[in-house]
Amino acid sequence: MAQLPKLAVFDLDYTLWPFWVDTHVDPPFHKSSDGSVRDSQGRTIRLYPEVPEVLDRFRGLGVPIAAASRLQKKTGVPFSQMIFFDDEKRNIVDVSKLGVTCIHVHNGMNLQILTQGLETFAKAHAGP
Ligand SMILES: [Mg+2]
Repeated sequence: MAQLPKLAVFDLDYTLWPFWVDTHVDPPFHKSSDGSVRDSQGRTIRLYPEVPEVLDRFRGLGVPIAAASRLQKKTGVPFSQMIFFDDEKRNIVDVSKLGVTCIHVHNGMNLQILTQGLETFAKAHAGP
């Protein structure tokens, strides 16, 4: 089986949702019984359409999810074991230098980018 990341890290604005937020939302996110997604303060978040399924998919694979701030100190996961999704090319360039597998998101996170990202990660970590 292909190797999976030990942590999936997401940029937020224009990667998980189609707007900028300042300090208005607080991860982690939870899916409510009515199907809406809320942050840790109970505020409803409108996400790109396939994002809930993307997050569920990672959960099903046993890959923890983190937002793109304060991430490495807390988790202790090596950069080489992370996959990172972001819409901004300059972040992709910078974070790539750390040894993280970086995936550029053009029009919001979706399942196709998830699959592509996991394939890219697995290829980068394939044994001889
Ligand atoms: Mg962004």
